[in-house]
Formats: sequence, C-alpha cells, structure tokens
Amino acid sequence: MPELPEVEAVARTLRPLVEGRRIRSVHVLHTIATRPQNPSQIARLVQGQQIKSVERKGKYLWLQLTQGIVTLHFKLDGQLLWFPSAKKMFEVANRKDAGVHVDVAFELENGILGFADGRHFGRVYVYKSGDACPALAGLGVAALSPDFTASRLSGLLVASRRPLKEFLLDQSRVAGIGNIYSSESLWHARLNPFRRANSLSSAEARRLHKAIVSVLARALECCLHPPPDFRDASWWFQGLEKILRVYDRRGKPCRRCGNEIERIAQGGRSTYFCAHCQK
Ligand SMILES: [Zn+2]
Repeated sequence: MPELPEVEAVARTLRPLVEGRRIRSVHVLHTIATRPQNPSQIARLVQGQQIKSVERKGKYLWLQLTQGIVTLHFKLDGQLLWFPSAKKMFEVANRKDAGVHVDVAFELENGILGFADGRHFGRVYVYKSGDACPALAGLGVAALSPDFTASRLSGLLVASRRPLKEFLLDQSRVAGIGNIYSSESLWHARLNPFRRANSLSSAEARRLHKAIVSVLARALECCLHPPPDFRDASWWFQGLEKILRVYDRRGKPCRRCGNEIERIAQGGRSTYFCAHCQK
C-alpha cells in the first residue's frame, strides 16, 4: 500500500503534467471507483475547471481545482496512468487481451490522466472543498511536515494508551505512516511495537521521531530514483526492499543483533519486530 513516500513521489511527478491544465471531460469507466458518487455528479463538479495544484497530506493526494477538489485514494495498489490522447487510451483501456486497466480518466488539454486499481479498492471522489472531505478533515499532523516535531509527537504519545504500532497507524494522530514504515521506524528506534504510547520516556519519544523522519526521507529518496512512470502501466516502485530492515523479514536474523525477526498479528495487520533489541 502506498504510504507517504510513495504518494509524495507520485505528487512530485504529477505536478508538471497537470498543474495549470483544464479538465475538458471526465470518463468514469468503472463506476465502482467513484461509488457512491455517480459519473454525472463528478462531471458536473470538475468539467471545465482548471487544476490549480496537486496537494498531498499523509497518504492522501488531491487535485485542487479552481473550485472544489478531486481526491485520489490509492488504497492497496491503485496507480496513475498517462495517455497522450483519449483515442490512445480507448484503444487499450480495459481490453480483454493485454489491455490496460483504467477506472477513471480525466481528459486534459495535454493528455489523459487515468486512475486505475485492478482490485477496485482505490477511489476517486469530488468535493466542493477540502473541508467537505471527511478523510482529509480528520487527518492529524503530517509526518515530514514542519509541524511534525519531536515535541509534537511527544504530546501525542502521552495522550494515548494504545500500543505503539497501532498509534502510528492512526492517521488522525500522525498522517502518512502505514504498516511498512511503522514497523521500520519502531525497529530503528529500538522500541517494542506492543509498548503503550504513553509509556515512552522523552528520550525514547525523540528517538522515535528521529527514526520516523529518517525512514520516510530514505524511502522518498528511493521512490524518486527512478521516479514514477505513469506511461507504463506495469511500473511500480523499485528497490524499496533494499532499505527495509525488519518488514517482511520473518524468521531472518535481525540486522542489529542477529536474533530471529518475528511476525505477529496486531490490530488485524502484520507487525515485524525483533523481541531481543526492541524494548
Ligand atoms: Zn534485534
């Protein structure tokens, strides 16, 4: 699932393609991607509007229009696509034999921006403003933003009794961290994922803050080299496994102490950690 670094890399790549461009029309090819909003509702709000900017907070990406916004939720493996023209898109879109999956397509002056999620978890929604979007309105402090300081994190930790891993996944507290980078951050900070958030000393909270920032920054670097290629439907982020120290390493030796990495279900998700050096 794309977390903050992946979505930030997508946002940076998207900006020069769409900012300042006008949306001529919108094609909803699979209505499940916009449900419960319907295609005519979407068209009414976006058609003829200019994309003023591409914005991101946490794992959420949206197009800021002259009036209103278009949110793009990638969920598990949603992605963006770019076609030179509507004709080119319709030649390949959702064809049985070697077609390219496309759910929603925005026809701009300079090309077509497509949104695709073959598993249909991803969503595209329109709102009259950012405040009208419940997912955006409920987001906490954005990780990697200037507001995300060690003392801000400390204050949030003190106010929560939840296990650290679940605390980090809660987007209403810190926005942008998902299952992979929460496991990684806790490993770097040498903190046990089952520790209660409010049990951390101030030194431990500072350590966690530093770990989160460096893990996300390193992942972003990786996501930008090479940058996303929206012209290639098979493109996906490369090389991230090289920077992972604990995620998806069950049964393998801890890169710090050599002890076996464990995988335990926590809040319905897999948590990877080293019980020996994460206290
Ligand atoms: Zn270890």
